[in-house]
Amino acid sequence: MLQSQLFTKTSKDTHADSDSINADLLTRGGFIGKTMAGVYSFLPLGYRVIRKIEQIVREEMDGIGGQEILMSALAPKALWEKTGRWENMDVLFKVPAAGDQEYALNPTHEELVAPIARTFLRSYRDLPFACYQIQTKFRNELRAKSGVLRGREFIMKDLYSFHKDIADLDRYYAIAQGAYDRIFARLGLEDRTYLTYASGGTFSQYSHEYQVVLSQGEDQIFVSIEAEKQGKRIAVNKEIFQEGKTVCPVTGGKEFRPEKASEAGNIFKLGTRFSEPFELQFTDEAGKLCTPVMGCYGIGISRLMGVIAEAFADDSGLRWPAAIAPYAVHIMPLAKSHDEESWKAAEEISKQFPDSLVDDRIDASTGARFADSDLIGIPKRIVISPKSLKAGGVEVKDRMTGDVNIVPLDTLKAEGV
Ligand code: ATP
Ligand code: MG
Repeated sequence: MLQSQLFTKTSKDTHADSDSINADLLTRGGFIGKTMAGVYSFLPLGYRVIRKIEQIVREEMDGIGGQEILMSALAPKALWEKTGRWENMDVLFKVPAAGDQEYALNPTHEELVAPIARTFLRSYRDLPFACYQIQTKFRNELRAKSGVLRGREFIMKDLYSFHKDIADLDRYYAIAQGAYDRIFARLGLEDRTYLTYASGGTFSQYSHEYQVVLSQGEDQIFVSIEAEKQGKRIAVNKEIFQEGKTVCPVTGGKEFRPEKASEAGNIFKLGTRFSEPFELQFTDEAGKLCTPVMGCYGIGISRLMGVIAEAFADDSGLRWPAAIAPYAVHIMPLAKSHDEESWKAAEEISKQFPDSLVDDRIDASTGARFADSDLIGIPKRIVISPKSLKAGGVEVKDRMTGDVNIVPLDTLKAEGV
């Protein structure tokens, strides 16, 4: 991709209404555009990041047998009345429809997935199964002041699992936790993500949140010191934490350290909370009618983009982990004309790296181009100049570490650039 062809531009100005670090950097870099408070559009660079995050999540969900679907964003009032959430869910967007009807803009999809499952579920042989989607959710959040961390419209992955009994739900829940661990590792967040014990509602003692430590995070978690000593990242949510009383559910330790964090994922054992009102039933081995139990497993895709932006940013801008960067390589020829050797070398290099952004704006000042490159935060920057070519190669800068190396042209690929 030639940078001159990107229809978005970077901007130096911090807008008065860019309410957080992620919104400021992502807006200035041209990744997102604000429609109104808590509502954003994803622009070419930003949507590439979103798609790469989605792909990692998708691969891991497919890996645990999740079948991908796409449920509707609109639902009739009746579905939400069935579970009592038409009245009780304060963030539910209610939309007037034709005649005197009302619809909901779904904030989550238990009310949709349960009746779908009911259509097909007959016997114990149909269980277990799991389906998931990656979709836009709507929540009328009171506070929408954290950029893409808390949207009124946002992208979520939600997986739902169905089981013949609690033992089977427990078995699958552990498998899903494994998939979540892999997702956070692949996103480059392994060292900052804490499996956080939160209250579980009526059915189970705990639900689990995947909290990413972030200095501007909205949540407060309490990290278990004993777990840390054992090389595990475990925390307790603020709501269930009582100084002096709470013990770490994994290690039994009583020492904790508070941290600010953002909840990137949340998994729940739902029991029959939704299968009962929607009358899901199956016949077991003995021919008896039973109600299946469910689990649900969410991840905030667009929130993750904001979390990662904030977690790694430095004073000069964004620093994307390689797995989800908008492009793998930023190629920057410091040529003054298209006849120069450094321009031709850049063209050759770009052929080797299909996932690259080529800064072809040779009329712009070198300082401005470097500043843009730092702001956009592509992991590797390859600078090709007459000077570097004379020194036997190109200059490769690692945006995360700041390390700079001169790498000979013919070994660029081999050296893992
Ligand atoms: P929170 O406590 O932050 O309001 P939640 O517990 O209501 O979130 P869930 O219903 O568990 O959220 O949704 C699953 C995931 O979706 C969350 O872990 C989070 O990553 C993401 N998410 C929830 N609400 C928002 C939002 N308003 N904007 C962006 N992402 C969100
Ligand atoms: Mg949650």
